[in-house]
Amino acid sequence: MRAYAVQCFCEPVVPVERVDHRPAGTEVVVEVMRCGVCHTDLHLQDGYYDLGGGKRLNLVDRGINPPVILGHEVLGRLVSKGPDAPLDDGAIGKAFLIYPWLGCGTCDMCLRGDENLCGKPQSIGVFRPGGYAEQCVVPHPKYLIDVSGIEPTLAATYACSGLTAYSALRKVDIDKERDLLLLMGLGGVGLSGLQIAMGLGFRRIAVADIDPAKRELALGHGATLVFDPRDADASAQLAAAGGVAAAVDFVGNKATADFAVASLRKGGMCIVVGLFGGDITISLPPLVQRAITLRGSFVGSLDELKELIALVKSGNIQPLPVEEVPFDAVNDALARLRAGHVKGRLVLAR
Ligand SMILES: [Zn+2]
Ligand SMILES: [Zn+2]
Repeated sequence: MRAYAVQCFCEPVVPVERVDHRPAGTEVVVEVMRCGVCHTDLHLQDGYYDLGGGKRLNLVDRGINPPVILGHEVLGRLVSKGPDAPLDDGAIGKAFLIYPWLGCGTCDMCLRGDENLCGKPQSIGVFRPGGYAEQCVVPHPKYLIDVSGIEPTLAATYACSGLTAYSALRKVDIDKERDLLLLMGLGGVGLSGLQIAMGLGFRRIAVADIDPAKRELALGHGATLVFDPRDADASAQLAAAGGVAAAVDFVGNKATADFAVASLRKGGMCIVVGLFGGDITISLPPLVQRAITLRGSFVGSLDELKELIALVKSGNIQPLPVEEVPFDAVNDALARLRAGHVKGRLVLAR
């Protein structure tokens, strides 16, 4: 089968040939139909995360070595199964969304259902070969999610961008009718976050983005207030709206996190999900006196992805704008994402 791999960090993804996998044990193999292109893929291509202050988190130090077959928003047709894979009759040939954030399967985190927080992650498209390929191997059919009724290109995006936004918003504990929720950054995950926030019943949502086109997009998707966080009166606008009860930072750089934390009213919470990179400094006395919470949120659990898919099937979430790109144009897709010129999500499709 053909796959697309990072052979050397910082270089374009290249096509590679791999032998077809014969599933053993509980493994299943899907023929990839769609695979979303995510910012995390850019970090995997670069080989590091920027930690701020000139420091880097090198992927080699996390045990990630090329070749890496990227792609963690994978939707595909189930084509074969190992002898011990428990499957319903008729499952072969059906299309499924893959939950990619696998752990070791045996530690306390994994056993309580938080595989995405496992200390020995096995994520598909990061630590295991992903969906930038004709086929993708999944260790157990419990990671296959029935998305029948959802358009496949859109469905693929729920495995990362949708799930990341959903899991962050589930951590937001405010009065959905009265309190102001601030979303920082309207990239693919941010826009997904706005739509899911609407679906979850948040009624007062402010969106900050430096790009006027994205602010316009936010207004069209239900935001109550949009602004450029660099404007001198940005903080005053939020204060006039009653202050921010909770902020979700979908960018995760110094400017966005500083702004989000500073904008919180007393008792407010800021959840950082973006991995753009950088660092912030927090003075401790105001942290105490304002009684604020700063929290990270990393993708989401298998149960959360199932909850999200159920919410989508209920018809309460507007579809994210998606654009299909041929698998052979993967480098072009990565370059466009890097340049920041994508509305919604790019999805490789065949
Ligand atoms: Zn992702
Ligand atoms: Zn584990």
